[in-house]
Amino acid sequence: MTDWAEIAGRIAAATGCRFTARDRREVRGGCINRAVHLCDGQRSYFVKLNRRDAVAMFEAESEGLTAIRASNSVRAPAPVCHGVAADEAYLVLEFVHFGGAGPDSERRLGAQLAAMHQSTAEAFGWRRDNTIGSTLQVNQWESNWCDFLAKHRLGFQLALAERNNPSRRLQDTGLRLSEKVRVLLEGHRPMPSLLHGDLWSGNAAYDRSGSPVIFDPAVYYGDREADLAMTELFGGFGPDFYAAYNAAAPVASGYPVRRDLYNLYHVLNHLNLFGGGYERQAQQLMERLLAEVG
Ligand code: ADP
Repeated sequence: MTDWAEIAGRIAAATGCRFTARDRREVRGGCINRAVHLCDGQRSYFVKLNRRDAVAMFEAESEGLTAIRASNSVRAPAPVCHGVAADEAYLVLEFVHFGGAGPDSERRLGAQLAAMHQSTAEAFGWRRDNTIGSTLQVNQWESNWCDFLAKHRLGFQLALAERNNPSRRLQDTGLRLSEKVRVLLEGHRPMPSLLHGDLWSGNAAYDRSGSPVIFDPAVYYGDREADLAMTELFGGFGPDFYAAYNAAAPVASGYPVRRDLYNLYHVLNHLNLFGGGYERQAQQLMERLLAEVG
């Protein structure tokens, strides 16, 4: 059972204001965690709960949100505290009151994401690993984007898939594709940009003033086109978003092929998490990419 008194005490300690967990409402819509809207009549918090061993995942999420906020580009919920209470891991965030998109909201999201991508690092990776869905995401620093993508993104998921026993065909195609990553990225020299890392439409919304908010990130420094690619994987981002992004920071030529390569990572992750039809999608993506390089 969740120890709400303990969590309320830790919120009070973190904020320096008395807080009682008077009102609690379950929030639906998450994929991984239980979520609760916690309120004392005045102040509201968003609390994620999971098994004790999820505390590292929550710590990484908190640091990711802090990194996005530090870029001063797009709104992300402020982390309040995290830890373990009564054998349960918790993450407390600022509660965001969501509203609908205004006429200008999608355009602002595109422009603000482009601004976030202007935050860059010296190398590709991040100071810690995090998770993508519930899968480990390795963020070991690499000076070369191609090495980073081949090892820590595609190679990692292909190795995981192998352990999950997909068809021989998928494994063979994965192997052939791994040898072509360098060719597919030939001549492409991206900067290591701060990425949300898991930017599907379920992780972006608008607050009551119509301002964009992004949350539930899997932050690392990578090719900014990887964030853009993911927005296209499951849809939900409109033409104003892409027009504003491209006006601020146009994608380089050859983007459609890289989009498929970057999205393969997420499709493989879905295959590893959920199986089913994702094997066919991964197979088709890999064959399409291999056809590009002959
Ligand atoms: P999970 O980690 O389980 O995928 P999410 O972070 O996606 O959970 O959150 C689940 C849902 O809760 C989101 O779809 C969103 O509607 C809502 N939500 C997320 N963060 C906040 C927040 N800080 N304040 C209010 N609601 C939030």
